[in-house]
Amino acid sequence: MKKIYFDNAATTPLHPEVIEEMVDCMKNNYGNPSSTHVFGREAKAKIELSRKKIASGLNVAANEIIFTSCGTESNNLIIRSCVEYLGVTRIITSDLEHKCVKETTSEMGRLGKVELQKVKTCERGEIDYNDLEQKLKSSDKKTLVTLMHANNEIGNLLDLKKVQQMCEETGALFHTDTVQTMGHYPLDLKELKVDFASCSAHKLHGPKGIGFAYIKKSTGFHPQITGGGQERGLRSGTENVYGVAGMSKAFELAIRDMDEHKSHIEALKRYAIEKLKANIPGVEFNGFSDDFDKSLYTVLSICLPFSDNLIGFEMELQGIAVSQGSACSSGAAQVSPVLESVLEEGKSSVCSPMRISFSIYNTKEEVDVLIDALKNISNKHLAVS
Ligand code: PLP
Repeated sequence: MKKIYFDNAATTPLHPEVIEEMVDCMKNNYGNPSSTHVFGREAKAKIELSRKKIASGLNVAANEIIFTSCGTESNNLIIRSCVEYLGVTRIITSDLEHKCVKETTSEMGRLGKVELQKVKTCERGEIDYNDLEQKLKSSDKKTLVTLMHANNEIGNLLDLKKVQQMCEETGALFHTDTVQTMGHYPLDLKELKVDFASCSAHKLHGPKGIGFAYIKKSTGFHPQITGGGQERGLRSGTENVYGVAGMSKAFELAIRDMDEHKSHIEALKRYAIEKLKANIPGVEFNGFSDDFDKSLYTVLSICLPFSDNLIGFEMELQGIAVSQGSACSSGAAQVSPVLESVLEEGKSSVCSPMRISFSIYNTKEEVDVLIDALKNISNKHLAVS
């Protein structure tokens, strides 16, 4: 049976040119970048060239890019440093953030290091911009706003410009988790004037175990990981040269082919929406999943009109990988808090949420197979009810 992968928001397959680049780097750039001999200098050069390439893709200075191990580490570095070293005593965030932001900000709040405020969300999971503005204006405390550019579960996009302007007007720092959008959307960070952003290479056809934090020059950070003083003293540890090379290649390709990728993936998502509406009566789209201006083109979050805790497993039996949108705990399916917050009350017990996420490697034929599988499962449920 052919396996079909529709879980690209979780991770993406490596681009063949990324593999080539990494293999080449493994063969030829094995020196320790801190060594002063030629092997070390070559490895160091690889890292610095990669940094320049990434920085120029975001229109920022190379020394504003700090390589880390992943998106989680980047977000931790930024949030924790803001509190420990930049005097932040209030964090404004939302209930829709990825766990690495949610857990980190919660810990800061629990330990009494900051006042933690959650911005309200409106219908369909949109950030309540008025509430954010009011909160920002309500206190003189040094504030960090941390709101994700795009939600990984339902795909909702944030209006970055609007939030940045509010932050600028009130003197707040602005961090945005761009893990789902880097390499998928054009991001001119200089023009956007955000203070901090994060990236994870495995979401854009790069390798796992490598990411970066964008840290605006003007801010004075200290490291979370201390030691040999790599990454300009901000993140010690021998650099992941192969990962950096792979990430920079993935980034370069993503930027070069962005328009082409977007139109291919967007067309697949449109096609999937049409086919779902035509074949699964009662299917619903979560958040702004069916609104192309307000949602990631890579993510389609749906609710099937029946409750089936094992739907992910049933799809897998047909060779299709999707994300179920709920986790089984003690025999009962628990819908994620993000989904719960956008679904009508009681809805989660009568529907089956599912996240279908696309990449350049998906095809229309694969969407047909997906819809047929969903139709069969749906018909089975309708026959029973
Ligand atoms: N932020 C968002 C929005 C994500 O989707 C993810 C991963 O799913 C992360 C952060 C964490 O990234 P990583 O897997 O590189 O730690």
